[in-house]
Amino acid sequence: MKGVKGIQYDNAAQRKTYVGYVYRAGTEAVKKNHLDQLDEKHSLLHREGKIHIHDLEAYGQTYNCLQMDVLQGFPYERLMTFSNHRKITEIFNHFRDLIVKLGNEQSGGMGFPNFDEDIAVLVDRLDIDESAENLGILKDSIESFIDWLNNARERCGQVTYYVSLNLGLSTKKIGRSTTKWVIEYFKNSSPEILKPNIIFKVKKGINYNECDKNYDLFCLALESTCKKMIPTYLLFDSKTNEKYDPKKVAIMGCRTKVADNLFGEPCSTGRGNVAYISINLPRIALEIDCDYPDKSGHEKLDIFKGKWTDIAISVKEILIDRYHQLCKLESSDFPCNHKYNLWINNFETVESLEEIFKNGTLSIGFIGLSEALEIMSGERYYDSEENYSDALDLVRYMREVVDRFKFEHNLNFNLLGSSGEFISGRFPEIDKQYFSHDFIDKDFYTNSFHVNVDSGLHPIEKIAIEGPFHRYANGGCISYVEFSSAPLNNTEAISEIIQVGIDNEVNYLGINFPLDKCCNCGNVGTFDDCFSCGSKDVLRIRRVSGYLEELEFFTAGKKAEVAFRKPNL
Ligand SMILES: [Zn+2]
Repeated sequence: MKGVKGIQYDNAAQRKTYVGYVYRAGTEAVKKNHLDQLDEKHSLLHREGKIHIHDLEAYGQTYNCLQMDVLQGFPYERLMTFSNHRKITEIFNHFRDLIVKLGNEQSGGMGFPNFDEDIAVLVDRLDIDESAENLGILKDSIESFIDWLNNARERCGQVTYYVSLNLGLSTKKIGRSTTKWVIEYFKNSSPEILKPNIIFKVKKGINYNECDKNYDLFCLALESTCKKMIPTYLLFDSKTNEKYDPKKVAIMGCRTKVADNLFGEPCSTGRGNVAYISINLPRIALEIDCDYPDKSGHEKLDIFKGKWTDIAISVKEILIDRYHQLCKLESSDFPCNHKYNLWINNFETVESLEEIFKNGTLSIGFIGLSEALEIMSGERYYDSEENYSDALDLVRYMREVVDRFKFEHNLNFNLLGSSGEFISGRFPEIDKQYFSHDFIDKDFYTNSFHVNVDSGLHPIEKIAIEGPFHRYANGGCISYVEFSSAPLNNTEAISEIIQVGIDNEVNYLGINFPLDKCCNCGNVGTFDDCFSCGSKDVLRIRRVSGYLEELEFFTAGKKAEVAFRKPNL
């Protein structure tokens, strides 16, 4: 690698720094080392681009992500003698401390499963009275926490923290105020404030109907989404999620969902994804197309299932090996978790880390369902009823196999609709070496089960097509609707899309649009050159893999995808 300038981005959150260069060089060496130690059959699957082992450098060293249980191990006693002012500021100092330390201790994102309720509970437990003065301090502290989340960088300065705030359900005074302050601050901030990711939990009886106590907060969320794409919406009245207690289940901004648990009731708090691997679906289709050109679409689909299952079995073996290696570590290898008890079980009292990490998930992901089906049938999966039912059948089949793994091995395997920021470009790049096809030349594969980004389908149609897939992707998934520009003040349109999502089994929903800011005059909108001052110096904000980022820093695959995107009008 040629110094700092030679760093190639793996994801849009990275920035080049000297220390980042050193970290990056170390990461590459560790990845190679881990890959070399795998069974050759397994490492070859990764090297040949049939699968992608995410966060390979963390193999057997740590888990992926966590919805933190911040209440369990909170240092109440240390704060008890402080003034109210200090207690409030210390809550957020503690959160910053957790985020920095976990950033060194795990490979992926951190979530607050109920940020609003957690703040309300902490204020109550710390005996902070709800005077106007204290509320003012709390509001200021929340706002500066958001600024910090947007600016702070981990991994030696090169990556922003992936932090997700789930909120919207607390009906307590402080909880409601927290949600209001978070969303209002984000909504009114300038376009370059991109983080944290905010997820609004939608539930009838709490915030969805006009008569609900938190309906005003839902309306505020819609206004913010119209302006800045955030929040996204976790839908608890949709068939996919209606069985869950909304306060117990949350989602990571990247879409990772941890809900069902073989070892307890469904919940997300104190749990996370341990590891995930994505399977390259177009690659399987390309091989079949090459080897069996004369077979019918249905025959090809049967062959596809067989080939996918073979790969999935290897993926399962890798995940189990990784899980066992992880469980061999000591509690003291996770100092922050150990001290603050952020997982569901106590690091201090467990006999083995298996008691902790068995509650996590092992996810088998997929990308490019759309390309795979089109390669085999010649048509997009949503262009005919027959193809659509084949596509659903295939994903249902994948879920059945993953469920079988779960019960056979008594581990929380689940099926993930991969967002694949890096792999959407990596897979076609490798596939090019073996095959030639139009789909490879466009330089990216479509996320998970999504319809193609240039489908131009009406939002309602798009949601209705993608919705039923959410039923099967229990490890997490999202559907997006793409607008041509910010639907400013058109909260009704967003509200209607959310209702369609609820009616069509959508688990998690987001609204995208191109958001541009002129660096010369500050004008905000969607444009090539600034329509106010004519400047070409424009900051372009786009959503990639669940998080807002600046287009300039996208990976090659995602830049290619953005160029193809057409709005759902
Ligand atoms: Zn301008």
